[in-house]
Amino acid sequence: MARGEDERCRREISRLLADGLATQTEPFPETEKEFAELLDALRGRKGGGPDLRAKLVLCGLIDKPYGEDRMRCQECLYYLVHRRWCDLPELAIPVDPDWWCRLWRI
Ligand code: SF4
Repeated sequence: MARGEDERCRREISRLLADGLATQTEPFPETEKEFAELLDALRGRKGGGPDLRAKLVLCGLIDKPYGEDRMRCQECLYYLVHRRWCDLPELAIPVDPDWWCRLWRI
């Protein structure tokens, strides 16, 4: 995805979240099995286009840090700092450092 396309997509995601898209932040996948099941569910969706919204709902993306520990993309294993990008193949979306989703890992 080119930089301009990243920005366009980030703005679209930001707008969807600001408009109140209800994403599924729980249950948090506590075990490898639960994590793998969530990835399987995400693999059933195509990236971008009309499926973007469904992907955001499934992964539970929110536009702010999560919980008492204020977990966020910035500290996640999958976050690419320079591109502001989620590099988890099943997501592969532009994200902001202060966002979070339930696939968060450290
Ligand atoms: S997996 Fe979730 S928390 Fe981690 S970088 Fe991607 S969107 Fe952010």
